[in-house]
Amino acid sequence: MRQISTSVSEEILALLKNNPKIVITSHHNPDGDAIGSSLGLFHILKELGLNTSIVIPNEIPSFLNWMPGAKEITRFSKQKEAAQKIIGEANIIFALDFNGPGRLEGMKTDFINSKAIKILIDHHPQPEDIFQWQLSEVGASSTAELVYQFATILNAEDKVNLEAALSIFTGIMTDTGSFSYACSNPRTFEIVAKLISKGVKVEEVQQQVYNNFSEDRMRLVGHALATKMKVFPEYRSAFISLTRSELNQFKYKIGDTEGLVNYPLSIKNIVFSALLIENTDYVKVSLRSTGNFPANQICEKYFNGGGHINAAGGKSYATLSQTEDKFVEIIQKLQNELKNAR
Ligand code: 5GP
Ligand code: MN
Repeated sequence: MRQISTSVSEEILALLKNNPKIVITSHHNPDGDAIGSSLGLFHILKELGLNTSIVIPNEIPSFLNWMPGAKEITRFSKQKEAAQKIIGEANIIFALDFNGPGRLEGMKTDFINSKAIKILIDHHPQPEDIFQWQLSEVGASSTAELVYQFATILNAEDKVNLEAALSIFTGIMTDTGSFSYACSNPRTFEIVAKLISKGVKVEEVQQQVYNNFSEDRMRLVGHALATKMKVFPEYRSAFISLTRSELNQFKYKIGDTEGLVNYPLSIKNIVFSALLIENTDYVKVSLRSTGNFPANQICEKYFNGGGHINAAGGKSYATLSQTEDKFVEIIQKLQNELKNAR
């Protein structure tokens, strides 16, 4: 594994120019940073005159569908043959916003079996040892910020056109909760200033991403908060759980529960929050915390997952109600850590 830095920029540029088929991938159930960083890099590489495609494991949520180039993304779940062909023929594969092939779900084997040179751009801790090159910074606000950094390293900031700028901005904005966390490094805002100079209209992106709910999605949020949120003030924790039939009742579409896990953290003194969503063969677990309470360690230890210290995810193979009980057991067990969390 070699580090991407200015000292190897010529080598990286030559690598990109000598390998005609470049593919960008990102994680299952993509969020704003997964799609924003992928499209950002896509537009930059296209400006460099390189043949680039994006392949992701499953659907793009509707709040990201407006993004420039979103329609050109190949989805493995819907277009399996086309996706396999693109991955199979790739000379270089970029892995964006994930740190190991497990996050690709059904696309994992094709990714692992590919002979392509694998380049990681990511901000998750402890990337797996399967990439030849990496630009990996845990302190970065988002992978999108690192995509801009990648352009800087390649001396290609002029190739960040308006489409790339919009994509990168969306990645940074969504992964920092609109600049409310993971953005205490001035570099984030210096990059945002450059993106705005390139023509990004902050109000328009906010409008597209956050003010485009369907009525059903809004009512699902209402239902979740009014009747499904369980608060444990003594453990400074809360969870929301949703059954399949509740999701069906509100005509759930991918992306509709995005951000829901953050709401309980708005309650005074709550530092740890979970969202438990019943799927057909597992319960999707999302955890959020504030300060030094490590959501990722809980996900690694109890829920077959991982992530960042304050935002992590995983899966539970127990029933929804058993998973709720397990969460309560965990917060009981960690009550001292939760009491002392800062
Ligand atoms: P979310 O709760 O929004 O699905 O995920 C929050 C964060 O947790 C993601 O940005 C990602 O870093 C991490 N994450 C989510 N699901 C998984 C998973 O299944 N495995 C691992 N290792 N990390 C996950
Ligand atoms: Mn991210």
